[in-house]
Amino acid sequence: MGVWDRDVPKGEIYYSSDWKAILGFSDAEIGSSIAESYTRVHPNDLSYVRAAIQAHFDQKTPNYQVEHRLRCKDGSYKWVLTRGKVVSRDSRGNPLRMVGTTVDISAIHDISEKLHRTVELLSKLTNEVPGLVFQYCLTPDGQSLFSYASEGIRDIYEIEPDDVATSAAVLDTIIHPDDLLAYHASFRTSAARLTPWHCEYRVILPRQGLRWRQGDARPQRQDDGSTAWYGFITDVTTRKDIEVELHRFATTDFLTQLANRRFFMVQLEAELARLHRGGRKPAAVLMIDLDYFKIINDRWGHANGDKALRHFAAVLSNHLRETDVAGRVGGEEFAVLLPACGFTQAVAFASRLQKHLDEAPLREGDLSIKVTISVGVAVMDASDASAEESIVRSDRALYRAKNSGRNRIECG
Ligand code: GH3
Ligand code: MG
Ligand code: MG
Repeated sequence: MGVWDRDVPKGEIYYSSDWKAILGFSDAEIGSSIAESYTRVHPNDLSYVRAAIQAHFDQKTPNYQVEHRLRCKDGSYKWVLTRGKVVSRDSRGNPLRMVGTTVDISAIHDISEKLHRTVELLSKLTNEVPGLVFQYCLTPDGQSLFSYASEGIRDIYEIEPDDVATSAAVLDTIIHPDDLLAYHASFRTSAARLTPWHCEYRVILPRQGLRWRQGDARPQRQDDGSTAWYGFITDVTTRKDIEVELHRFATTDFLTQLANRRFFMVQLEAELARLHRGGRKPAAVLMIDLDYFKIINDRWGHANGDKALRHFAAVLSNHLRETDVAGRVGGEEFAVLLPACGFTQAVAFASRLQKHLDEAPLREGDLSIKVTISVGVAVMDASDASAEESIVRSDRALYRAKNSGRNRIECG
């Protein structure tokens, strides 16, 4: 640090040896004219240095303080912090004497410059990453906010970083209502156990519509008990669409759009598992086989046979409740699961199907194809060890319906 003492009316300034040493000058190498001193100020800094001094001379500021560059003896520039104060004025308030200090801040300035460049690099990087890079905070009383959100938030949520800077509440109106509870629960679990946060959820956006988002982040507990996550959120809509499509391919019968045999059995097993856990009524399991289908194919052609299969599947679907499941388990064989349903209701259900098929045959142009069905009914309850058992019983009942003349319902 160096000290200086300025005689304002005379236009002279006296520097301490330390002051001169900052710039690499010896005592004799620096004069005392104020005009000369201004020649050492960096040209780009000169105007605000002069303005700051003038403001203080005019008593608009209590003291003078400015960061600027000074030229050293070797021609390079150094950043300094100059502070000063007018210590005497004449009767009209004009400054007479001003004293002050100059501190070499080039090291600090370098660090802050580097820091600034690092921050700039970091925000450039996070803003270039496709998706939202964030720091998210959740306080123990449930307040949440994004202490950092990259520009990707404009794509991910169609909002600005500022919209979530003090509260993340707006997300409750963006995240799909069906996914909102799971979204919040996933953060609470991650906070409680300090395990990585992972969540796949839907958003509804004004511009993009319904989209899938995937978030991953690592939590850290803060001193005040709140939790901070560092992570990112990306668009996974395409992957999710493919997953849904693959699931549909794997579980659906192409011709009738009913469940395929494998997926029907999965759901039958799930129902048996629920029965085993208790508290549920037994379920009816029906096997349905179209009668004399070979003859239908022979008479009307295979393509019309396909249409007859689709016709039956449509009629069947129209008779199902929300919780019922139907599957195509063979060429012209279908299975139905009716949860919480006994023999009487199941037989009534099958009769309604038969009645409907009788009254509304498939009409294709001039031709009218009537199909009849044979139905075997079984009831699955907690005493069954496997889902297969109820299928075997309803199959046996179906066999009897066929043997007794077809277009019949038998219970087994
Ligand atoms: P039953 O009353 O004893 O059931 O006589 P059925 O002729 O229906 O019985 P069977 O099992 O002997 O023949 C079933 C026929 O269903 C044979 C097959 O050609 C036909 N079939 C199976 N899958 C399809 C299909 O996807 N499309 C068409 N059009 N026909 C099919
Ligand atoms: Mg048949
Ligand atoms: Mg058959």
